[in-house]
Amino acid sequence: MKAMWLVEPGRFELRDQPAYEFEADQVLVRIAYAGICPWDVRVYLGKKNVPLPRLMGHEASGIVTQVGKDVDHIRVGQRVAPDFIVKCGVCLNCRRGRANKCSNPRFPNGAYAEYAVLPHQNIHLLENATTSFESAAFMEPLACVFRGQKMLRLVPGETELVIGAGPIGLMHLQIARLFGARVMVADVLPERLALARQLGAHAILDNSNGDLKRAVMDWTNGCGADAAVVTVAASPVVLQAAECLGDGGRLNIFAGIYPVAPLPIDPNLIHYKELVLTGSADSTSQDMHAALHLIETGQVRVEELISHRLPLQQLPEGFEIVSKQQGLKVMIEIGGNLSP
Ligand SMILES: [Zn+2]
Ligand SMILES: [Zn+2]
Repeated sequence: MKAMWLVEPGRFELRDQPAYEFEADQVLVRIAYAGICPWDVRVYLGKKNVPLPRLMGHEASGIVTQVGKDVDHIRVGQRVAPDFIVKCGVCLNCRRGRANKCSNPRFPNGAYAEYAVLPHQNIHLLENATTSFESAAFMEPLACVFRGQKMLRLVPGETELVIGAGPIGLMHLQIARLFGARVMVADVLPERLALARQLGAHAILDNSNGDLKRAVMDWTNGCGADAAVVTVAASPVVLQAAECLGDGGRLNIFAGIYPVAPLPIDPNLIHYKELVLTGSADSTSQDMHAALHLIETGQVRVEELISHRLPLQQLPEGFEIVSKQQGLKVMIEIGGNLSP
């Protein structure tokens, strides 16, 4: 099988390797599509220290081609979305429902390959025959977004500010709407704001002049936003978001920020306005399940977020596109629209 390994920062190598062996409780999946995640791009750019070579790709869909002998609830030919982080299931965080923060996770070989092998617990089955493989490949990023939005504890009718209208911000917009919020989306790129409008933003705010606070105050009759999420990796933007919040406002810092940059925040802002600052990272199996359901029922639209479709051989080109922030989600077509 073909697999695209990252051998050193900035350099991929397409390898032809033997088919995977698999164990009694594992499932072999032929990969249909795999999306490029900004996390992968940070590894590619050498901004994240992980052991190389590595076969990445954790936003994928595919079809089951073999199952281990102890697996009885998954059949060959089923359409699936795999979860590419194997949680230990026994650490304190796994035991208390925070498996996204498992202290002993394993990272099996990823989806930038023709096949992947995973434990049966990591396989989410598609229920709807009309769900496209491309949209199912959004399960993982949408699960992270869903988790982040839950932390904002929205009540219907509240206002939320989403900063950044990339694929992640545009998913936040849609989940916030499902929680009943009126959503403002801020970005500096007009084409991204136009898509935010199409996907249901109640207001789009041009953040290129830097006076976001005034725009938010205008739109909320001087109250400030009830909730805000920062999807761009920049410390000053976190501060900007905090200043846009009203009394009792909640802020989610959704993007990891590298290089690390401390935040000079005025504690009185938090104290007097009773702000709640949160972060969220990764997702649990429950978040994945919920996300896939939202995709399958059409409650969240993800196909519009795809700007490029490339074959596996052109994965390096896809990484360049994402690192230069050209376009939105880059989808790698591996098996394509496989049929059972
Ligand atoms: Zn991802
Ligand atoms: Zn664990």
